[in-house]
Amino acid sequence: MNNPTYKGSCFCGSVQFTVTGEPAAMGYCHCESCRHWSAGPVNAFTLWKPDSIKITQGAEEIGMYNKTPRSFRKWCKKCGGHIMTEHPLWGLTDLYAAAIPDFPYRPGVHVNYQEATLSIKDGLPKLRDLPKEMGGSGASLME
Ligand SMILES: [Zn+2]
Ligand SMILES: [Zn+2]
Repeated sequence: MNNPTYKGSCFCGSVQFTVTGEPAAMGYCHCESCRHWSAGPVNAFTLWKPDSIKITQGAEEIGMYNKTPRSFRKWCKKCGGHIMTEHPLWGLTDLYAAAIPDFPYRPGVHVNYQEATLSIKDGLPKLRDLPKEMGGSGASLME
């Protein structure tokens, strides 16, 4: 098997990393935490097994904050650029799509759409909260 590897970095380039293989899921999160932390209306996520991600430069520049035990948010201490969020309870890490520009991002779902401040009519499923297998209701909303 020849797994594709993609390179990513923080905003200033001090922190460099690679990710290999295929993500477990891709989509958009509209939750209050993602919006507040990113200072944007929506977070484009790609979820990976943690061992798919390798920090290749600048590991000492990575800061981390967790408001809840569900999400450990990481950024570059030099530039403030956001890199990833670890979700230990799910065994998955969200590598922000914006931080891996060469990765062919193909969103498949919107999650936490009940919290949306920006409605997006793209024909993709809109989950009220999270999929059942991630502890949510699995319920869908209209666009
Ligand atoms: Zn940086
Ligand atoms: Zn979120």
